[in-house]
Amino acid sequence: MYTGSNTPNTFGTTQTVEVIARTWATQGTEKNSVNHTERQLDTWLTSQGDDFLRRITAMELHSRYSACTNCTDVLIGLRRKLPSAVLVFHWRDLYVPKDDSPSRRRQVSQTAAAYLSELEKVGWRLTGRRS
Ligand SMILES: [Zn+2]
Repeated sequence: MYTGSNTPNTFGTTQTVEVIARTWATQGTEKNSVNHTERQLDTWLTSQGDDFLRRITAMELHSRYSACTNCTDVLIGLRRKLPSAVLVFHWRDLYVPKDDSPSRRRQVSQTAAAYLSELEKVGWRLTGRRS
């Protein structure tokens, strides 16, 4: 296995390249996740094209928070784009908006056990805190 940089592989061995993408929430609310970390990753991955997506064998996400409701849907969509890849999502804190959150959709936006189950059903391996 060759795990060098993006320089051409002249060794005649299988080439594996690790790509590290850093995305972060730049804006957004609990109602609108357009600028959430997961959505930005999805947008970037999609913009790389189908050839790039077909070459992904594994993806590991590290996040401070678990996914909100909208981003859970984004991650389920990522599974469809990467049907055979190993997908791992690790977060530090379960996403639960503060009690004084202005959002009326607080219960919809926060991570719920049902959403985590949905992610596991489609093959995400989850390693974050559940409470
Ligand atoms: Zn989100």
